Amino acid sequence: MKTAKELVAQMTTEQKAYLCVGKNFWEINGVARLGLPDIMVTDGPHGLRKQTADADHLGLHESLPATCFPTASALACTFDEELLCEVGRALGEEARKENIAVLLGPGVNMKRSPLCGRNFEYFSEDPYLAGKLAAAYIRGVQSVGVGTSLKHFAANNQEKKRMTTDSIVDERTLHEIYLKAFEIAVKEGKPWTVMSAYNLLNGVYCSEHKELLCDILRGQWGFDGAVITDWGAMSDCIASYRAGLDLEMPGSRGGHQQWIMRAVGTGELSQDRLDSAAQHVTELILKSQAGREIPYTCDMAAHIALAQKAEERAAVLLKNTGVLPIKKGSRVAVIGEFAKKPRYQGAGSSKINPVSLDCAFDALRELGVDAVYAAGYCLASEQTAGLIEEAKRTAQSCDLAVVFAGLPDAYESEGFDRENLSLPAAHNALIEAVSAVQPNTVVVLHGGAPMEMPWIDAVKGVLMCYLGGCRVGHAAAAILCGQVNPSGRLAETFPLALSDTPCAKDFPVQDNTAEYFEGQFIGYRYYDAAQKEVLFPFGFGLSYTDFAYTDLRVRERGQVLEITFVLKNTGTRTGRETPQLYLGKKEKNGGVPFKKLVRFAKITLDAGEETTVCFTLDQDDFAFYSTDLHAWTAGAGDFVVMAGASSRDLRLTAQITRAGDLPYPSGDFDRVYEKAVPYDKEYAPRPFTINSTAEDLRTTWLGRLVVFIIRRMMRRMFGSDPDLLRMMERMVMEVPLRFLIIGSGGVVDVDRLEGIVLFFNRHYLKGLKKILKKTPEKTEK
Ligand code: BGC
Repeated sequence: MKTAKELVAQMTTEQKAYLCVGKNFWEINGVARLGLPDIMVTDGPHGLRKQTADADHLGLHESLPATCFPTASALACTFDEELLCEVGRALGEEARKENIAVLLGPGVNMKRSPLCGRNFEYFSEDPYLAGKLAAAYIRGVQSVGVGTSLKHFAANNQEKKRMTTDSIVDERTLHEIYLKAFEIAVKEGKPWTVMSAYNLLNGVYCSEHKELLCDILRGQWGFDGAVITDWGAMSDCIASYRAGLDLEMPGSRGGHQQWIMRAVGTGELSQDRLDSAAQHVTELILKSQAGREIPYTCDMAAHIALAQKAEERAAVLLKNTGVLPIKKGSRVAVIGEFAKKPRYQGAGSSKINPVSLDCAFDALRELGVDAVYAAGYCLASEQTAGLIEEAKRTAQSCDLAVVFAGLPDAYESEGFDRENLSLPAAHNALIEAVSAVQPNTVVVLHGGAPMEMPWIDAVKGVLMCYLGGCRVGHAAAAILCGQVNPSGRLAETFPLALSDTPCAKDFPVQDNTAEYFEGQFIGYRYYDAAQKEVLFPFGFGLSYTDFAYTDLRVRERGQVLEITFVLKNTGTRTGRETPQLYLGKKEKNGGVPFKKLVRFAKITLDAGEETTVCFTLDQDDFAFYSTDLHAWTAGAGDFVVMAGASSRDLRLTAQITRAGDLPYPSGDFDRVYEKAVPYDKEYAPRPFTINSTAEDLRTTWLGRLVVFIIRRMMRRMFGSDPDLLRMMERMVMEVPLRFLIIGSGGVVDVDRLEGIVLFFNRHYLKGLKKILKKTPEKTEK
């Protein structure tokens, strides 16, 4: 069997160039002459989205039925690496069954603001948790010979103008927060591919960011797989390959191969760099071929059961003042359309076609609950006339009311950000009305991200299901009835109000530069530093039993610090606890103490049972990123280790002193927060480029005409679905011209795209010549 290097040595420049540019929407070119087959990739991340007919990256067209697992924001609440590995494996098995070489996920971008429309697809506001869970997921998928694509590298934290925004992040924040999860996932999970993000990072498109792709990813972290673009994320083709990119997806319909060959001819792109890109893609194909030898089975019934188990462990019980579990024999009013039509997955490229879908109302009835239903609101319209009154009557006639509410599809999606943290007014009104007449009201929430709960004091219970996959109904019912003891813990903070969030003033940015002025203070780091009350803190979640933490001991064993404490189930039933260990530093003179999650575990204990939890910390845990040395450095000083049940429920603490290379810098909140990251690049919409958007072009008469035509076309295509139309309208104005290559079905190629840009820049003749050129006979291999 030849190695990738040997195979590349036998290739012509043209074959190498073909390898490095996608074949079509989902396929990567192989080299048949050398026995390298074309391979197929597909979304991810929480179910397979294999399209066999029309292809798209927005979840518009059908895909084959697949198991729909809870999305990443739910899975993260399990704090359970073993489970993530199990889910990954199941996804890998479904991919194997469909001959898929790479599953496009997981996404580990940080939740900089709870408004990011795509937060449902990301794990956490904490890089350690996100990195660990992603690594486990990757190990699971890849254990059956299917690759993953760790995405979106990097600092892709808002959907607004996601294809053209420039994330401006200071060096320390970048390494400690926005790159950290990628670093952990790359080192511990070893993904076969990494997907470069759409956005720019500190002035350079991620796909052409040499420091990111070469120096950090390969140099510092030892990544040895292939770097592929997000779909349509390539801006400057040659700059990208020079910077370390290996593969353009979904390909430029043959166009960029010619550019690569030309650039190699002129020396603009070195032969060595093309060889290494071709070698990485060849290795990917070889890995996938070898993967097919790994024995596997694909038991769909078992996967559906796993989807339920995952959601049972993910759902977070946020409030319970003695109302749950539902007492046997109670008559229960089940209110809200979500009880029959749950929101169980997000919208966009991760949207899959579930092989089956349940609902909580049926699941409750299956468990023998005497349940009666009232719709309460209508998902298809804002009309609530009569529905709330009917719900009140139903609630009054029962012992208990369970209201199903949350964020409908049109409220959060890939492609745009949320405008606020509110639930639909009809859902809030319903909860308020029902809880006014029924003292035992429980709210079950669906949605991919935190929401405000103005009615929190009026209800007795809240169960946050997130987007819980195809068995969310059974999982919710099992928890409500007490068959399953809830064990989910929040992987993100629930703020009291939008105005409390770290970048509330300026998220998402409307212009093209997103300055991360809050520095490292994201998530609980911010709420702690700013001393804000929150609705529910990071790490929080209730159980039907109680746990006690005692007897903290810290022992130094050389460079390693061993921390032990005793965890006891003091309640009356078996439960799973998530002990969390945070490392902090006390500050004198008004400096703000920092606190970060450094370890977590998932432990099942029977009633009365206890165990000793043991964590070890090493030098890396005390390291910080020194901007003087441009490197990670061992920090010295007086630290505090804190163990407990959430970031704000730290039951045991101990002081320790560490020696290191440099004093660990103080968490200087005031100086970092609200200090703009220095940046002097002005965004100039003209001259137009392939990255100009419809919004930019609207400053010309031609642009206005094009926008008018696009809008009409969209109304014709999506008019029957007002939510989808609204979503598409919000997205399309921000899509750069370069997307015409993907979106035009072959009509616009790279030359015609150049022509269009020339035309908009008033070089009418030159532009027309390129636009009207004859289509080459055959552009694909
Ligand atoms: C998304 C990726 C996805 C790709 C392919 C892009 O728009 O950002 O996450 O994998 O499309 O569908």
